[in-house]
Amino acid sequence: MPISVGFIGLGNMGSRMSARLVQEGYPVHVFDTNAQACERVAEKGAVVHATSKAVADHSECICISLPTPRIVRDVLLGSDGVVHGGKVRRVIDFSTIGPQAAADIAEALAAHDIEYVDAPVSGGIAGAEKGSLAVMVSCGAEAYESLKPIFHIMGKVFYVGDRAGQAQTVKLANNLLSMTALAISSEAMVMGAKVGIDPQLMLDAINAGSGRNTATQEKFPRSILTGTFDFGFGMGLAHKDVKLCVDEADKLGVPMFVGSAVRELYAVARSTQGDEADFTAVCKLIEDWAGGAVRQGQTPSTGS
Ligand code: NAD
Repeated sequence: MPISVGFIGLGNMGSRMSARLVQEGYPVHVFDTNAQACERVAEKGAVVHATSKAVADHSECICISLPTPRIVRDVLLGSDGVVHGGKVRRVIDFSTIGPQAAADIAEALAAHDIEYVDAPVSGGIAGAEKGSLAVMVSCGAEAYESLKPIFHIMGKVFYVGDRAGQAQTVKLANNLLSMTALAISSEAMVMGAKVGIDPQLMLDAINAGSGRNTATQEKFPRSILTGTFDFGFGMGLAHKDVKLCVDEADKLGVPMFVGSAVRELYAVARSTQGDEADFTAVCKLIEDWAGGAVRQGQTPSTGS
């Protein structure tokens, strides 16, 4: 019989990751502050509880996928939090919260005999659905060995170290690169649109050349050329990740000239479009400024 598992945070990522655990035969206990999110996961076979503590009363191992470091702290250490549950022994944190928060939370949980497992992921909602995420893990070797079956359900696993926070550093680096690729590709693609080049043709050329990246290969075709802006990662979360990364680099004395510019771009996109906008809408900022949109089938602009 597999161990009972909890899942808290059933949004874009957590809804899909918890469903995979149900499919694999784990008894899964869940909680989210959004009742509709709970209902959707209950339909897949999970048991819904009213608080994070209640999930921790029923699960030896709890997975979380939550938006910010503050929310992760509240859910784990707050008055109705996981720390007060009777059954929980380990917490796998799939959220992106930065190395400092991960280390602090690990220490606070250890004081209650609960082990924190740092395990941020990359690969978006498509990866969460298919179980093809990159899972970056740092924790004690024993926890890693015993939790491997859960990591493998989520995707490809990379054990990067034995201290909480190390996996967060790898994840922040990954997201800085991904977000930078989207930002700079937006600038390049809008430039092409302004001189009347078919955006699909431009993408095809770039993707056969040395400029190809995850934005030109996935985000532009799926969510920008279509005008749907629905890749599945919020603008508020995107800005949070780049900011966490540049703050961390600053603390370490590592210069981030390019990273700082990218952080400012997402800060402006967040303030003009809101937290809930999809992060692919960062391209709209460049489009609005330049007066040229990168859309499939759009009559190419020959603007000034
Ligand atoms: P999301 O906003 O879609 O989902 C977050 C969920 O947490 C929501 O359902 C929300 O209701 C719930 N929540 C908020 N406060 C809560 C609380 N106090 N108690 C219980 N539930 C609460 O976010 P997401 O896109 O699923 O991302 C989750 C985490 O994974 C973030 O840290 C993000 O940076 C990271 N991440 C996201 C992606 C992606 O492509 N979306 C990819 C990799 C990593």
